[in-house]
Amino acid sequence: MKTAWTKNRNADSVRSFAYRKGKFMKSKVEFYKAFFEELEKKGFGVAQPSSPDYVVDIQFKGKAIKSPSAYRYEKGIVKNEKMKDVLWKTYAIEDMLRDEVYLGNMVRGKTHSAMHKGEKRHHVPRSEWIVVQGTHEPIVSRELFDAVQAVNEKKIQEHKKKLEKAKGHLKRDNLFKGKIFCGDCGITMGCNVGNHNSKSYYCTNYRENGAMGCVKKYISARKLEKAVLEAVQIHLKIFLESRNAIQSRNKDAEIGKKRKVLEREIKDLGQKEVQYQQKLSSIYLDYKDKLLTVQEYFMLKEKYQATLAELEADSKEKALLLNEMQEDYGEDLELSQAAEQYAGQKIVTPNMVDALIERIEVFAKGRIHIVFRFEDEYRRLLEKKSDMEQEVAN
Ligand SMILES: [Zn+2]
Repeated sequence: MKTAWTKNRNADSVRSFAYRKGKFMKSKVEFYKAFFEELEKKGFGVAQPSSPDYVVDIQFKGKAIKSPSAYRYEKGIVKNEKMKDVLWKTYAIEDMLRDEVYLGNMVRGKTHSAMHKGEKRHHVPRSEWIVVQGTHEPIVSRELFDAVQAVNEKKIQEHKKKLEKAKGHLKRDNLFKGKIFCGDCGITMGCNVGNHNSKSYYCTNYRENGAMGCVKKYISARKLEKAVLEAVQIHLKIFLESRNAIQSRNKDAEIGKKRKVLEREIKDLGQKEVQYQQKLSSIYLDYKDKLLTVQEYFMLKEKYQATLAELEADSKEKALLLNEMQEDYGEDLELSQAAEQYAGQKIVTPNMVDALIERIEVFAKGRIHIVFRFEDEYRRLLEKKSDMEQEVAN
């Protein structure tokens, strides 16, 4: 904290402010003093803050004490009779307990505005406040004041924790955001938060247009999450089991031999491709050297290119076949990564939904259809497994 006396730039303005607002300051101090005098009168001492409940006690008992408004009415400063019996409000007591005026100091610069720079009035960080020490007699000891600040700080931290928790819940609200659609009319489904934070999804089209728009549709988030979780886990189980079955089959010596044959064939195909590319460039040179007519050149060119295309296609097919025979088959698939991460997870999380689900369609009577991501990979792997089983059967 800056102390105004050591800051020449501020000292004069602060002093003149204290002079101008002297009356106000005095009455503020008076209110605070009156508050504690009342507390003492009611048999609640303020000198020794030994109990940990001390501050809470001040705040609780303080609510039975007449507020500054009532005090002003008593003194005839305000005439409105409504003010007569107004008591201290909790937030006002909290503010008061935070005020350094307690310690006999005056605080300036809590807010700041610079209209010439277009800056609106805003709160200034506590570390930048200007504190003028000893402008009046302290009302409470430093010990009590610090005890109050410690309690306040604890309260603030607890409040922050609660807010963060609530944020976590909010995230859960948006679990299927952008991915849930009415199966009957295709519109994005709305999410409704009911009593006790229970959530449900509905067709916005039906809600707005009734039977003219769509079929009546409603599903609780709890039910939907349960169904999605089940479907996801079954999906992943089938995928991983199939992948493992293929991998263990690929460890067979028999498959190992086939792999060797394929590798050889692919290598041969590659060599043939190189040969045909060389042929292609040599006929061009022959044509340039006038050893070939233009017709002959084009005829040969077409022929070689067709052969090259065949070789490439053949090689590609064999490479795919070889890939399916690898002992680590499927591990490079995108679905593999997601499956390994989320298989067995007991709750639906936003990350799980993002990683695995393309869209969810909800039909009447709560029937749901889930479109998973990486469907191609999934289907190919299952086909491979079914082919493999047929091979074994034959
Ligand atoms: Zn609909």
